Amino acid sequence: MASLLSVINKKAAMSIPKASPNLVFVMSDDHAAHAISCYGSAIVSTPNLDRIAAGGMRFDASFCTNSICAPSRAAILTGTYNHINGVTTLDTPLDNTKWTFPQELQRAGYTTAMIGKWHLGHGPAADPAGFDEWRVLPGQGHYHNPVMLEADGRVVERGGYVTDLITDDTIDFIDRHQATNPDTPFAVLCHHKAPHRSWEPAPRHFNLFDDVQIPEPETFGDDLAGRAEVIQAVKMRMMDLDPVVDLKATVPAGLSLDEEISWRYQRYIKDYLKTVVAIDENVGRLLDHLDEAGLTDDTIVVYTSDQGFFLGEHGWFDKRLMYEESLSMPLLVRYPPQIEAGSRCEEIVVNVDFAPTLLELMNVETPSSVQGRSFAPLLRGDAVSDWPESMYYRYWMHRDGSHNCPAHYGVRTKTHKLICYYNDPLDQPGASGPIDPVEWELFDLVADPYEINNVADDPNYHSLRDELMAELARLQAMVGDEPLDRLD
Ligand code: CA
Repeated sequence: MASLLSVINKKAAMSIPKASPNLVFVMSDDHAAHAISCYGSAIVSTPNLDRIAAGGMRFDASFCTNSICAPSRAAILTGTYNHINGVTTLDTPLDNTKWTFPQELQRAGYTTAMIGKWHLGHGPAADPAGFDEWRVLPGQGHYHNPVMLEADGRVVERGGYVTDLITDDTIDFIDRHQATNPDTPFAVLCHHKAPHRSWEPAPRHFNLFDDVQIPEPETFGDDLAGRAEVIQAVKMRMMDLDPVVDLKATVPAGLSLDEEISWRYQRYIKDYLKTVVAIDENVGRLLDHLDEAGLTDDTIVVYTSDQGFFLGEHGWFDKRLMYEESLSMPLLVRYPPQIEAGSRCEEIVVNVDFAPTLLELMNVETPSSVQGRSFAPLLRGDAVSDWPESMYYRYWMHRDGSHNCPAHYGVRTKTHKLICYYNDPLDQPGASGPIDPVEWELFDLVADPYEINNVADDPNYHSLRDELMAELARLQAMVGDEPLDRLD
């Protein structure tokens, strides 16, 4: 099958302009922007991720449209919202006959590869499609000595640390492509498992941060007063971490509750950051390899994560919610011929926009069925007068088994955020009952960037709340999503 595809590709490559760039798309899993030093992180240094920002553009308002793994991955690949691509929760695989940007690149003559975490299902209807070759982790995969899957059911046993191995395979794909087919461009998706739960470091990093106390975030002690009742019931507090699986330790005897919470945070955040350091080292290795191969000027390099993560903010770990730490995706893009080194963008972009953007940069057309909008003009530094001033979000997986997060949708503008917890599983796979009463939150992100004061019921914000409700309805209609009937 692979050789047949190669023949097809070589033929199709006739239509690809010679100047079309390569793509190295690096995506980690649950890597919060505030754990990257070029985003101002106070708790970790990531000099190699910072190299991408220094050589390209850093996005400061890049958001996911559903803050959880599989749905965000589906939105990135298909350029559509989850009610369209069908991947609404963790329990909904991606139908691999649906359009994706790698399939479009392959059709256009690119040689394509997918290495690492797929997490969109397995089997004939859900295996990666649109790739000349792929090697992926089964499900969540393992940090140490992982098994990996390839086409035709081949199983590969790997010895070593997962972030190193995924990078090794990415570099190997690039080298083989350049050795055999250097006149056509390539696109490789390098998807890391790290820093996903349960945050298992490489042996070389076991003792990193041993002598350091990581500072707790500003909102670590947030008591969630005034926030929705369903938010106060979320099970993502430090006390919800499993000591054995998550913290790999026994809780010391004799600690007060506050002391135990602080102890848990240190265990959690240090392991999380150790896995981030391994990502940074490996991104450095990949960038060095592009330099050495003379490919840097011909290659788009993207670094992102499928969504953000709480690193102790509001006392939480994990993601799922529409709060800033979870909603924000890091996004760094380097492509020297078209993107000014060290530039920044504050416009709102979403994961649904990634596919059309990359295709435009790679001289490949995007079909009209794609809902996202290319932000290639923003990357080039052009002013776009009608760029969207707001974004739409929806989390479907009401009260999943362990995190107890509510189903919700909402709108974020440059200054405010309105969230409707509609609190209904709606028969979505992986969601559960009971149905809870509808609740609202409204945050003034200028006056209250940490989202502590819910002003949904504050009379001073009533007219603004009405405006945001209208904007939410407009966005839902625009993307073809349905508001909940019982809100009326
Ligand atoms: Ca994730």
